Amino acid sequence: MSALEQSRQLATAIPGPRSTELSARKSAAVAGGVGNTMPVYAARAYGGIVEDVDGNRLIDLGSGIAVTTIGNASPRVVEAVAAQAAQFTHTCFMVTPYEGYVAVAEALNRLTPGDEDKRTALFNSGSEAVENAVKIARTFTGKQAVVAFDHAYHGRTNLTMALTAKSMPYKHGFGPFAPEIYRAPLSYPYRDAEFGGKELATDGELAARRAITVIDKQIGADNLAAVIIEPIQGEGGFIVPAEGFLPSLLDWCRANNVVFIADEVQTGFARTGAMFACEHEGIVPDLIVTAKGIADGMPLSAVTGRAEIMDAPHVGGLGGTYGGNPVACAAALATIETIEGDGLVARAAQIESLMKDKLGRIQAEDDRIGDVRGRGAMIAVELVKPGTTEPDADLTKKLCAAAHQAGVIVLSCGTFGNVLRFLPPLAISDELLLEGLDVLELILRDL
Ligand SMILES: *Cc1c(COP(=O)(O)O)cnc(C)c1O
Repeated sequence: MSALEQSRQLATAIPGPRSTELSARKSAAVAGGVGNTMPVYAARAYGGIVEDVDGNRLIDLGSGIAVTTIGNASPRVVEAVAAQAAQFTHTCFMVTPYEGYVAVAEALNRLTPGDEDKRTALFNSGSEAVENAVKIARTFTGKQAVVAFDHAYHGRTNLTMALTAKSMPYKHGFGPFAPEIYRAPLSYPYRDAEFGGKELATDGELAARRAITVIDKQIGADNLAAVIIEPIQGEGGFIVPAEGFLPSLLDWCRANNVVFIADEVQTGFARTGAMFACEHEGIVPDLIVTAKGIADGMPLSAVTGRAEIMDAPHVGGLGGTYGGNPVACAAALATIETIEGDGLVARAAQIESLMKDKLGRIQAEDDRIGDVRGRGAMIAVELVKPGTTEPDADLTKKLCAAAHQAGVIVLSCGTFGNVLRFLPPLAISDELLLEGLDVLELILRDL
């Protein structure tokens, strides 16, 4: 394959004729509930570029929702996948096991926070891994209740829909949901400042006390198996909790025999300028759930944690036909080798300073940008009505649509639909990244 040129190019209108044709076939063949951010069909992707079937080259600021963190079709991954597929594509780890699965487990035990004895189990999707983390926590503690937080996103299966906060589009009409799931208030500095004052916005311990009071009074530690939280919320709006929030929650969990589950499905694998986002707060969760960036797009997910907790379920209690597929495991090992070999954790930190610098300058001149936040290559801006903190979902929608027309892939998120989120691949060049932001700045000026 020839190298994909790393420049933005609009060869046709967006979408072009071939994409339009495919969209018509899609409407006739694919279930209507499966939506698309952009009606543009991919042909190739590499570095910071996605090329569509009409020859348009788009700047990728989404990484397929934080998945192709090391860059799409990354060379080591392509090679490892081809080599493994030529050997065998599946045996089922529960039938005749293979080394790749064990090697991924060893790598995750080594890379995740904490030096204690750890174990890992592999699955296919983030949702499936979250479900298994809950199963493990319940067998370990002999308790049932699980607490998730406001604005949380943990997936779309039945149990994870119950854990997810936002109704439309994730839960609407799909109930009844799994029982014994409860919700606690998050630390959301930008909005806490509005409703709870400056102290609540900056004092993570205080925000944790508010959550713990709810948990203690409405559920009770004696009924609670686990607390699950994204160290930086993803779909909920890239919300970074106030410093001290996560450590205080973890301390309370430790003191009350409650398993602390960090959902690092979106934040893991160098995305936030650390291998895992928990490292920014120096916390060691009991269980850590990973997926998305783990294998450069091959379906794989994992639960990793303290051996005594992970080993609680009976033999045969955990598994699945495809979990830890050998091709996906080969991709994960190549992904980890790429992150470590190419210094990608440091690259994510570099991207943070580039983006925050640029977005901060735009914010200084535009009072529709209420907040710029995030870590590493996981940065967001929250858009509001000028001079207020009132969410502006309409502006966000228009900005995304115009960016797509201009050949820049951006995503929105947030409970109020007013957060523009950036998840560039770490393989993107500085030039492309800044060009993408320049395009947004110009659009924002015109809107
Ligand atoms: C995407 C995501 C999930 C669900 O992962 P799937 O692979 O889509 O099932 C769970 N938790 C978080 C934080 C996510 O971002």
